[in-house]
Amino acid sequence: MRKDLHARLRSAAAALLLLLAAAGTAAAQAPRERVDLVVQGAHVLTMEPGRPPLQDGAVAIRGGEIVAIAPRAEIEARYEAAEVVHGRDRVVLPGLVNGHTHAAMVLFRGIADDLDLMTWLQEYIFPMEARFVDAEFVRIGVRLACWEMIRGGTTTMVDMYFYPEVAAGVIEECGLRAVLGAPMIDFPSPGFTGWNDSFAAGVAFARRHAGSTGRITAALAPHAPYTVAPEHLRQALAAAREIGVPVKIHLSEDRAEIEQIRERFATTPVHHLNALGLLDHPLIAAHVVWPERDEIGLLAVKGAGAIHNPTSNLKTGAGIAPVPDMLAAGVRMGLGTDGAASNNDLNMWEEIRLAALLPKGVRNEPRAVPAAAALHMATAGGAEAIGLGDRIGVLRPGMRADLIQVSLASPRLAPLYDVVSHLVYAVSAEDVVTTVVDGRVLMRDARVLSVDGEAARRDALRKGAEIRAALAEERQE
Ligand SMILES: [Zn+2]
Repeated sequence: MRKDLHARLRSAAAALLLLLAAAGTAAAQAPRERVDLVVQGAHVLTMEPGRPPLQDGAVAIRGGEIVAIAPRAEIEARYEAAEVVHGRDRVVLPGLVNGHTHAAMVLFRGIADDLDLMTWLQEYIFPMEARFVDAEFVRIGVRLACWEMIRGGTTTMVDMYFYPEVAAGVIEECGLRAVLGAPMIDFPSPGFTGWNDSFAAGVAFARRHAGSTGRITAALAPHAPYTVAPEHLRQALAAAREIGVPVKIHLSEDRAEIEQIRERFATTPVHHLNALGLLDHPLIAAHVVWPERDEIGLLAVKGAGAIHNPTSNLKTGAGIAPVPDMLAAGVRMGLGTDGAASNNDLNMWEEIRLAALLPKGVRNEPRAVPAAAALHMATAGGAEAIGLGDRIGVLRPGMRADLIQVSLASPRLAPLYDVVSHLVYAVSAEDVVTTVVDGRVLMRDARVLSVDGEAARRDALRKGAEIRAALAEERQE
């Protein structure tokens, strides 16, 4: 019996040695595949439905594309990376998608607060844009905005603003991803006398970027149903169809808009756009604060993207979008900051938190928008809502490598029971330490590499001083 056991142990040990030797030879024989970048994470949150965070994982990236997501040891065994970003005390997740902004408006940050939407727009923003917005304004503003977005973990923006070609150049350099559209509007705007020339410029920009598979893509951006006549909305739709780009618009933002649409067209904003055919084409609708029940159903059935902008909607007193009803109906929902003149920053973490908190408070229902649903709107859901769901928003082999690392090292984030809970309810923009877009590291160890933040700040302060001086002079006259 005893002898038998010894014999068995000996043969087991021999088998083990053989196995180890074989493994050693295999490792020595199989050369590791080269990749450009490996980003490790104590937790890797892919945002794939139903997939829990991967513990001690890593993402391998080559040519701007994700090639593998697996436990760190496995990635280390299979890949040799030119650059490795460590993941101790860090969460890796898809970069945040800011589904609605006007990046250059950071230069109007804090210039006119505590006003209702229509007064703010018509008495302050539109006149100031007419006076101050030019190519230089956009160059300085977009660079500052890019710094802020990279610093806070935003990797994609959907932007509607003037001089989009200037914005595109700056965004190219800064390394972010963007869907850009020039506002097309019925009255004079910076550089334009009205609809015809703003429409022509918007179309020309979209044509130049149509069919791009790069980081900069285009949309046609008629401003809103209350600033663009029905025949012009039809014209924009026809052009968008022909060029093959989505339409992006402000929609159902506040009560005054609802009133105007009712008075002029005896309908509601979503029905108005649907009657014009805009819901039968890829549509990115910002705000959607006041949809009626049947309008929510319409948005869901037609597959329109709706971008929730909780801070901006609170600040202008526009209201609170019925997000739980829209999610329940299956509307593709994303999140946005809107411009920094109505926010007043580009911090998506605040939007995520508000998206989760607001419906709980107004409905006395803590489950109205769970944490995971809010985070989904800022990542995978947002990507779907803006029509980029096949490229970004989820970490999966074959997707573009747009991802961030959030540090858990702050005492404010201890202890840790649930990664998603921390990301939604406790993380701040300052906790983001790495931002990668298309495989390029734009920020590493909380240092932004692709934008000179100090120079961007200096330029913004100079521009702000110019604007302040011009306004002061005007007041004296
Ligand atoms: Zn807006």
